[in-house]
Amino acid sequence: MRIKFLGGCSEVGRSAVLIDGKILIDYGIRPADPPEMPAPHNGRVHSVIVSHAHLDHSGMIPKLMNSFPDLFMTPVTCDIALILWKDTIKLGNSHGIHIYDSEDVERVAKCARLFNYRKQFVVDSYVCEMFNAGHIPGSASVFIRNEREDISVFYTGDIKLENTKLLNSASLDEFPCADVLIVESTYYGTEHRKRSELEREFVDSVEDTISRGGHAIIPCFAVGRTQEIVMILHAHGIVPYVDGLGISVFKIFERHPSFIRDSEALSAAFKEAKFINGKRKRKKALSQPSAIVTTAGMLNGGPVLYYLRHVHDDPKSKVLLTGYQIDGTNGRRLLEDKSVETEEGMLRVHAEVEQYDFSAHAGDSELKKLVEHFCRKGTEIVFTMHGDNSEEFAAWIRENIGCNAIAPKNGDEYVIE
Ligand SMILES: [Zn+2]
Repeated sequence: MRIKFLGGCSEVGRSAVLIDGKILIDYGIRPADPPEMPAPHNGRVHSVIVSHAHLDHSGMIPKLMNSFPDLFMTPVTCDIALILWKDTIKLGNSHGIHIYDSEDVERVAKCARLFNYRKQFVVDSYVCEMFNAGHIPGSASVFIRNEREDISVFYTGDIKLENTKLLNSASLDEFPCADVLIVESTYYGTEHRKRSELEREFVDSVEDTISRGGHAIIPCFAVGRTQEIVMILHAHGIVPYVDGLGISVFKIFERHPSFIRDSEALSAAFKEAKFINGKRKRKKALSQPSAIVTTAGMLNGGPVLYYLRHVHDDPKSKVLLTGYQIDGTNGRRLLEDKSVETEEGMLRVHAEVEQYDFSAHAGDSELKKLVEHFCRKGTEIVFTMHGDNSEEFAAWIRENIGCNAIAPKNGDEYVIE
């Protein structure tokens, strides 16, 4: 089996792994100016398996549609990705960049072959299967067995091994044995806080902000985080306003209840939440103390900037970041300099700023446990990718588990026999 790493090595973004020159797992984009894509793959790709809808895994897939490959993914991944790709076109246009057009996206919808978790499908001489990865609704870890050579590979994709309000975690017990493991390493070296404590602290902070007469502005990613935060607030009796793309994504999740841990709780939370569509409602949301859940999660555009323009000099208000803020984003600028860039120029923020680690990825000990599990069951080689510390993770595996482990570089190809 030949495994070629086209992107996402020692970095987060543009994930892409090619198996035997035939099956591509993921084909992501790396947000930069201009956006970066995976390395060239020479030849026609027959089939693509999409682990999940996040753009760093799916963002460049419409670009492959000239050759009409078969696209395998879960139904919810397809529905979410279609929205995100259309949004990518719009965003590109507003920056004068053409990435792909809406016809390419339409073609994806036609070529998509949708499978639920634990349903095997066959591509040439390969048997493939997707497993719940617990990362966002529809996210999958991917298993591929080359029947002719009797070699198998398991690609974790982005994975979480702990339940959240929104999702059941991935389960190590349901994963098959594999000769080769390709594991993400986003949080190698970093442990997450206990979810229940984190939720309590977050809710206390929102309640304090409202009771002192301020606005709790809660920037969230549209996919997964918005819905989880609304559920957490609802469970504690707080009715938030919700603004942005997270509302459309909720409607998709509602159509796929089997991918949600407690779909009734999700629907109940959104039934009470107040949706904002338009400026008039935004003004209303700011007319009295409130909690406002809004996109974009890293403050690079979206309605969150409207709210920041209105509360930036109000010391009673607070911005509660709910995810990691990548270097170069407005969110990172807010954390480091207490300023954000808007169309009208730089804005100094005097409102309080807090950050909560509601990560959808496995933490350090979960990643180690996962690799130990696979190696105990016969995995002979581990590739670490998708993270800044992939090299260190590979070294840890070699030293502590005694398994061959490699942190590949973009463009590297390995032959497994
Ligand atoms: Zn992801």
